[in-house]
Amino acid sequence: MPAAIEASCHAYLGTTMHSVTAAADSAVRHDWTLAEIQALFALPFNDLLYQAQRLHRRYFDPNAVQISTLLSIKTGACPEDCKYCPQSARYHTGLKAEALLHVEDVLAQAKLARDNGATRFCMGAAYRGPKDKDLDNIISMIRAVRGLGMETCATLGMLTAAQAQRLADAGLDYYNHNIDTSEDYYREIITTRCFQDRLDTLRYVRDAGMHVCCGGIIGMGEGLSDRAAMLHTLATLPEHPESVPINQLVQVEGTPLHGRAAVDPFDFIRVIAVARILMPKAHVRLSAGRTQMHDEMQALAFFAGANSIFYGEKLLTTDNPEQDADRRLFARLGIHAEALAADADLGQGAGAAEKHEQRRATT
Ligand code: SF4
Repeated sequence: MPAAIEASCHAYLGTTMHSVTAAADSAVRHDWTLAEIQALFALPFNDLLYQAQRLHRRYFDPNAVQISTLLSIKTGACPEDCKYCPQSARYHTGLKAEALLHVEDVLAQAKLARDNGATRFCMGAAYRGPKDKDLDNIISMIRAVRGLGMETCATLGMLTAAQAQRLADAGLDYYNHNIDTSEDYYREIITTRCFQDRLDTLRYVRDAGMHVCCGGIIGMGEGLSDRAAMLHTLATLPEHPESVPINQLVQVEGTPLHGRAAVDPFDFIRVIAVARILMPKAHVRLSAGRTQMHDEMQALAFFAGANSIFYGEKLLTTDNPEQDADRRLFARLGIHAEALAADADLGQGAGAAEKHEQRRATT
């Protein structure tokens, strides 16, 4: 930790330790300050995990983990320059580009995922933003997958307000759009768009009535202050994302971030715990990078408040633990797959947008 931040955290802790504890215990907040978040990061590891676990138990079954499956529906040849991503056309990673899949192929994969216990099916396409004609096909995929009784999620890059509305009208439940890191560090990672572009798409998604899935990546060379600032951005949104994926960088040869120093596992767990405290009602997803994690580290992440994973052998284009390994780990930890919420109402035509409207009408 930089000395200046450490000093200010310790000073802050010395005077307001009680208020941090009280803050962590209070109702869901959207007014977190950066200093409060830095103070959480500076807590002794056991104190931080205790607070996170306590809050986790208030809002969730501590032994349930939500399972999503992610399929790449259009792979590679992306014009963007995200330095961590093997799908960028700018880097030579040996990845084979693939056009948008057919609806029947996506449906077959979704059925397989459902039969393996996934309740949410996420479809990822390597676009800067989708063209309207691509959306026609993707909307057919969304309708088909919802017909299986699964929640749907898509990650297609930047959207216009009109595109977000089309997806919501089609019944898309979640839209994933990660902010990746802090606003300050963002330009070190991506130059083809800016942080505000991300926030604009997130706003369109919310305004259209969809659930938001938004998180970041740890291990890109960012500092502790960047991790705190990234979580500060998420925790001070008018509505917290319902889903917060925390990824550990998967280093792919040929990408500019290949060769970065590995993240200290305890630092990674701290990010999960702080996310849990700041956004206690969100599903915090232990996302990319699990193949590099021992079972013990994953167990610690679940204790710190992670309660969602991607299940399946691929995460878009990088490896994910084998499903048998996940089943064995769940059995050893006494963890079970979280069932769909009773109000999910899938396959009946009520997507997130309609439910959002229903909620608004009744409150
Ligand atoms: S992260 Fe997404 S937008 Fe960035 S290069 Fe990869 S596919 Fe393209």
